[in-house]
Amino acid sequence: MAQSYDVIVIGSGPGGYIAAIRASQLGLKVAVVEREHLAGICSNWGCIPTKALLRSADVMHTATHAKDYGLTLEGTIKPDVKAIVDRSRGIAHRMNNGVGFLFKKNKVDIIWGEAKLTKPGEIVVSKTTKKPVEPIGPIPKNTLGEGTYTAKHIIIATGARPRALPGIEPDGKLIWTYFEAMKPEEMPKSLLVMGSGAIGIEFASFYRTMGVEVTVVEIMSQVMPVEDADISALAKKQFERQGMKILLEAKVAKVVKGANSVTATIELKDGKTQEITADRMISAVGVQANIEGIGLEAVGVKTDRGFIVIDGYGKTNVPGLYAIGDVAGPPLLAHKAEHEAVICVEKIAGLPNVHPMDKLKIPGCTYCNPQVASVGLTEAKAKAEGRDIRVGRFSFAANGKAVALGEDQGMVKTIFDKKTGELLGAHMVGAEVTELIQGFVVAMNLETTEEDLMHTIFPHPTISETMKESVLDAYGRALNA
Ligand SMILES: Cc1cc2nc3c(=O)[nH]c(=O)nc-3n(C[C@H](O)[C@H](O)[C@H](O)COP(=O)(O)OP(=O)(O)OC[C@H]3O[C@@H](n4cnc5c(N)ncnc54)[C@H](O)[C@@H]3O)c2cc1C
Repeated sequence: MAQSYDVIVIGSGPGGYIAAIRASQLGLKVAVVEREHLAGICSNWGCIPTKALLRSADVMHTATHAKDYGLTLEGTIKPDVKAIVDRSRGIAHRMNNGVGFLFKKNKVDIIWGEAKLTKPGEIVVSKTTKKPVEPIGPIPKNTLGEGTYTAKHIIIATGARPRALPGIEPDGKLIWTYFEAMKPEEMPKSLLVMGSGAIGIEFASFYRTMGVEVTVVEIMSQVMPVEDADISALAKKQFERQGMKILLEAKVAKVVKGANSVTATIELKDGKTQEITADRMISAVGVQANIEGIGLEAVGVKTDRGFIVIDGYGKTNVPGLYAIGDVAGPPLLAHKAEHEAVICVEKIAGLPNVHPMDKLKIPGCTYCNPQVASVGLTEAKAKAEGRDIRVGRFSFAANGKAVALGEDQGMVKTIFDKKTGELLGAHMVGAEVTELIQGFVVAMNLETTEEDLMHTIFPHPTISETMKESVLDAYGRALNA
């Protein structure tokens, strides 16, 4: 007879593992099916190992600018590629093990294999057909295996994989996805990055800091196209100062592979073409959801533009079936997956006052140098929605702490509703802004107005003071500008 659960989660990424732990906390009998690596893309190939690489880049940046801080370093500072990659992979494995530990602690069963829905409330788990990108080490002990399993509630959290453009498909050797970009065997001398979203620009920033000649080709009119135009423009200026070449409104039309290089034909915005030869290329044109081969057709799950359609609580159109995380649509971010997981499970458990997901309040962070972070509406979006707004801006150049740190290139921009004073959006570029943005996220969640923010005391000296000054500026009251 099939083993039965209250909740089965397919996939153990940030969506899946958080769903399983919360379900267990709420007294539900729960199992997670995983086919490749505990903790999903985020810990193994996404958020965490990239931040480890970027930390090496930060140290490299600081070391190469030691003179600016009155320090002399003897000799040349060179990246040791193997050591940098080993550190990053070691951190990924540590996170992956940590999730195994959490499952054990929370009495979550692990079923190892590939799950497929056969009918509502039932999955079949078979031997995984997916070749792991990297040996995953021993499969956690005491896992369950192939077979049929049933559950009152099944949560799909199968995540996403790199998207490829026809004719420019990554081959893992000359044209990389984030998998190969994450563990280079040696530093290329030159690199072409196609796409300047968060993934593309983080890798561009890492490789440029390591001394690689980097060209970024972006089809839209700004780098990091989802960000506010002012923030993006300041980030671009800094990237170019660091020696990155950036082509906007430009398209990689064709790529010809050589023995140890690629030559790309780029269509430029003036209609001309340019050929760029680089040792390696990263295809960073987005990701696509893992919706195939999991039996969605068998149960009639609705999809739209490649993602599973859900309501604000993760419910699909099929009773008892839910989807969370990347597979359920943008923004494709780990914290969005985690929050959807909690909402979904609390609704399943029948908790009162579960709030549906409010996508406007999901922050976005990009860990390039300089960092970029935002929440809520951009100025352009607020205007497109016909909002009457007030906009505040404040530069890091007028902030004592930023200047003392040698990080005076940055900016905070805030957007308020003119009538109500509601904070509609906050956008930042500069040092540590990925840590600062949470202040504005809390403010937005509490439906804070400009007055509340003006009455809030910010510690001195901190870069966070730029946040308050930006609010003051929106009302013509900036004190340090
Ligand atoms: C290079 C890179 C950097 C990133 N950086 C950030 C960042 O800084 N911050 C941020 O918020 N987000 C970042 N992301 C995005 C983040 O990784 C994803 O949003 C997040 O991992 C999504 O979580 P998930 O649970 O939906 O899916 P995933 O993490 O993709 O996990 C899905 C899991 O399901 C398993 N699975 C799939 N199909 C089956 C099946 N049929 N049976 C069993 N198991 C299955 C997979 O093996 C996988 O382990 C980054 C992504 C990349 C690629």
